[in-house]
Amino acid sequence: MGTSGRTDGPGKTAAPQKSNLTPAQGAQQAEKRLGKPCFFTGQRLVGIYACVTCQFRINNRGALPSCPDCGEIIWCYMGDGPRPIPEGETAASAAPVDSTGPAVDQEVVLPPRAQDPVKVEEGINLEM
Ligand SMILES: [Zn+2]
Repeated sequence: MGTSGRTDGPGKTAAPQKSNLTPAQGAQQAEKRLGKPCFFTGQRLVGIYACVTCQFRINNRGALPSCPDCGEIIWCYMGDGPRPIPEGETAASAAPVDSTGPAVDQEVVLPPRAQDPVKVEEGINLEM
């Protein structure tokens, strides 16, 4: 995708294989390196993001693209405030929100019973 079309000959030291990382792993590594929240192409986020490779900035809404300038897929969040949460992902499974409203005593109200027929047995021998 560029001006350098030469292929490197054999004998060079192997470059670190970045490409075997998943986008999520790449974002994690970039995040450690930069100390800012990093995300990757396809995550749905709103805000200002900068390409971690060429610093190209985008004002993103919707799904993150790949960098229009260099093709990078990892983006660094440039905004202030807490780490944004990609749409469709949960911050954590903590604090489950119960949408059913306030808790109600689970007292089961039984309908009044019809008078149980009580069998009175007469003549029970109580002697053991
Ligand atoms: Zn870029």
